[in-house]
Amino acid sequence: MKDLRYLPDVSTIKLNTEACIGCGTCELVCPHGVFQIADKKAGIVDSDGCMECGACAMNCPVEAISVSPGVG
Ligand code: SF4
Ligand code: SF4
Repeated sequence: MKDLRYLPDVSTIKLNTEACIGCGTCELVCPHGVFQIADKKAGIVDSDGCMECGACAMNCPVEAISVSPGVG
């Protein structure tokens, strides 16, 4: 979601693609379109769009995502 921005390059969102099983939950729950699934793996396509709400990390079944609440 390109019109919702705060500071660039400060988001703490991290994705472990090796652990990801491609379930698609992060893409579904993220309100800002930070993730996209391609080839059965999640990818971060817009890290600056992350507002560090934690919904993706909380819902990932394999704990492949980490994010710390902060300035996002
Ligand atoms: S923390 Fe929230 S805004 Fe950031 S990627 Fe996860 S669901 Fe999206
Ligand atoms: S929720 Fe977790 S396992 Fe599912 S696609 Fe996203 S990172 Fe991968």
